[in-house]
Amino acid sequence: MDIDFNKNADGLVPAVIQDANTKKVLMLGYMNEEAFLKTNKTKKVTFYSRSKKRLWTKGEESGNFLELVNIKLDCDRDTLLVHVNPVGPVCHKGTDTCWAEDNEADYGFLSKLEGIIESRRKLSETEPDLRKENESSYVVSLFDNGINKIAQKVGEEAVETVIEAKDSNDELFLNESADLLFHYLILLKAKGFQLKDVVKILRERH
Ligand code: AMP
Ligand code: ZN
Ligand code: ZN
Ligand code: ZN
Repeated sequence: MDIDFNKNADGLVPAVIQDANTKKVLMLGYMNEEAFLKTNKTKKVTFYSRSKKRLWTKGEESGNFLELVNIKLDCDRDTLLVHVNPVGPVCHKGTDTCWAEDNEADYGFLSKLEGIIESRRKLSETEPDLRKENESSYVVSLFDNGINKIAQKVGEEAVETVIEAKDSNDELFLNESADLLFHYLILLKAKGFQLKDVVKILRERH
């Protein structure tokens, strides 16, 4: 790998550390050539620590190593993107990332939708009489009706999706697919699970 270690006078290049699975950015460190070579050899991420002024294998004291998956070089060969599997919390302050974020996968809009569904589930724990007028919603009423009703609804949407799959109307098929996915997310939540629990199983099978 033709890294430009001479761009900075100190011979260091920044190394962005990203979780190989969740894609969360975990921390930023610096590598010189020696640190880079050691990282590749040991498969444990090693930096050049500017404060310790020596090679520093992340996890050498805490045991929270960063296991190397792969390293990519940016467009002008002066910054590394390092994909890792962290064996524990990455920040020395105990958080998953150095920006105090959790290291859960983010499924973009689907995760946002899961958040909204969760807030509706919480609302459904409040007695109907005690809810404010603007707090009535279709999703709250689904949670009110319980798991069996929600599961039945998923079944209905699945059947509708199957029917539209056999016809050749793409728009209807996509709309029923959206209904199915939406109600499935609600069922998962009603059972106390999230999309990530299912993705984990798919990943393990892979
Ligand atoms: P560790 O490498 O996890 O054994 O931690 C050893 C020391 O390195 C800690 O006491 C901190 O001073 C420093 N350190 C560990 N993790 C980080 C981090 N993510 N960012 C900056 N410094 C860190
Ligand atoms: Zn660059
Ligand atoms: Zn930190
Ligand atoms: Zn439908």
